[in-house]
Amino acid sequence: MKRLITLLITLLIVQGLEAGVFDPRYHTYEEICNELDSLLELYSTIMMVDTIGWSTMDSIPILGVKISDNPWMNEDEPKVLYNGLHHAEEKISTEVCMYIINDLVNRYGIDDRVRRWIDSIEIWVIPMLNPDGHNVVMSGLDTTWRKNTRDNNNNGEFDLDYDGVDLNRNYGFAWELGGSTDPSSEYYRGPYPFSENETRAVRELTLINRFMFDICYHAARTGQIEVVYYPWRWEGGFTPDHAVIQAIAESVACRIPNFMGTGTYAATYGYLTQGGSARNWFYGAIGTIALTIEVGRCYPPGEYVDSICRNNLHGAYYLLDKALMGPGITGHVRDAMTGTPMQAEVEIVEVTDTMIEPRKCDPVHGRFWRLLVPGSYTVRVTAAGYDTVIIENVNVGESGYTELEILLNRTGVMEEKHGLHIFGIGVNPFYCEGGIDLNTHVKVRIYTLTGSVVGMFDLYERRYMGGDGYEVIGKKLPAGVYFCEIDYGDMVVRRKLLKLW
Ligand SMILES: [Zn+2]
Repeated sequence: MKRLITLLITLLIVQGLEAGVFDPRYHTYEEICNELDSLLELYSTIMMVDTIGWSTMDSIPILGVKISDNPWMNEDEPKVLYNGLHHAEEKISTEVCMYIINDLVNRYGIDDRVRRWIDSIEIWVIPMLNPDGHNVVMSGLDTTWRKNTRDNNNNGEFDLDYDGVDLNRNYGFAWELGGSTDPSSEYYRGPYPFSENETRAVRELTLINRFMFDICYHAARTGQIEVVYYPWRWEGGFTPDHAVIQAIAESVACRIPNFMGTGTYAATYGYLTQGGSARNWFYGAIGTIALTIEVGRCYPPGEYVDSICRNNLHGAYYLLDKALMGPGITGHVRDAMTGTPMQAEVEIVEVTDTMIEPRKCDPVHGRFWRLLVPGSYTVRVTAAGYDTVIIENVNVGESGYTELEILLNRTGVMEEKHGLHIFGIGVNPFYCEGGIDLNTHVKVRIYTLTGSVVGMFDLYERRYMGGDGYEVIGKKLPAGVYFCEIDYGDMVVRRKLLKLW
C-alpha cells in the first residue's frame, strides 16, 4: 500500500512533466481505457474488452480486446493475436496495436475484406502488456525503462537499479537459455518461468485460444529496426516448420513499407537461445506462428506515429488473409462414443522434432489448424486412454484446408465385450503390458503396413503379449508400425501397434 501511495504521489508531481516528455500523440493508460470505451459504445456487436490479468506490482488491469462477430462467444474460428509493450519504453508498439483496433472496427461496415476477417476470425489485441513499467516511463522516473517493476529485493520500494523483470525473457520455453540471472540486469528473466502476472495472463489466454498467429510489436532503442524476426535457429538447424514460417515472415515483411519510403521491412530468424521470449514460447509450446516486429525507435516524434502504424497494417492483415487461405490441414477430434471435443495431440509425422511440444486441439471445440506447404502428410492423433489413429496420404494443395473429422475410440472398449483387456498402453504400445482373460482360444496375427505377416500364434488363458515382440513371435522386429489382429472366431479385432525401438 505504501508503495502504491508513493507511486500515486510521484505521478501527481510529474503530471506536468508528462506532457513535456512525450508527444500527446502517445496514449496514456487512461487514454487507452477511454478510447476503448468510446469504441465499445459504437461497436459492441463486434468487439469486447476483457481484463486478461493484473499487473504484478500495482494490480493494474491488463486489457485484452477481442474483435470478432459474437465477441462474447468462443467460436470455432481461427484465432490471431497482436500484442504490444512487453517492454515499457517501446511506446510505439502500443500505438500500432491501438491503430489496428481502430482500423478494424471502423472499417467493418464499409470494407468487405475487413468484414470477412471479423466474421470468420477471432482477433485479439493486447495493446499494453506492461502497465507497471509504462508508469515508470510516463512519470519521467526513467524514460528508458524496459522491465516491469517486480520488487526483486523485497524492500517495499521501487529501485531503478535493481527491480523489475524483462517480461520477454520470462516465458516458459527454453527459459534457462536466455536473459540474465542478475536482477539488476535489464534482461533479468525472473526467478522462475512465468513468475510474472503479465506473462501468465498471456499464457492463460493462449491456452484457451491456441492462436494460429501472433505478432509481438516491439521497438529498438539501438540495433536493427524495421525487421521481422521468426522462430528459430538452433545449433545450425531450423524449426521443423521452417519452410512455412520463413515464407510467412517474408510475406509479412515485404508488405510493410519502411519509414523512409525506400523499401520494405526485412525478415530474419531469431535464435532459440533468446530463451524465455514470447515468440519462442508461442511456437515451441503451442504451435502458434509468432513474429516479433521491431517497428522503429521507442517513441519517434508524434507526427511520425500514424505513418509507422499505417505501414504496419499491411503486415498484420496479411496474417488474417493467410489464416483463412491456408494451405494446411484442419479438423476436429472427438470421442467416438459421446461426440465430446477432445484436446488430443495431433502430429504431422513429417513435420516434427523433439524440440517442440506436441500440438494439441483447442479445449473448447477440439479443433486443430496446421499450416503446411503443399504435399502429402501422415497425421497421427493420440490421447491418453484412446486408440491412436493414423491417417496416411493426407494431401495439401496450393490453397485452402484439407478437413479431417477424427473420432477416437476408447482403448479396449470393444475387446471388453469379449473379455480381452489390454493394459498399460504407453509411449510404445507394442511394448504394452497386455494380457488376455479368456477360456477360449484366440488366434493372433501380427503383420506389417503392407500386409505381410511377421508373426502368428495362439493365445489362451492369460498370457502376455508384451515385450519387444520377441516373446510372442520369437524374433526381434525392426521399429515401425504394425497391426495386431485378434481372431475370436466370431469377431476379429485389429489394433495398430507402434514399435519405437
Ligand atoms: Zn522490445
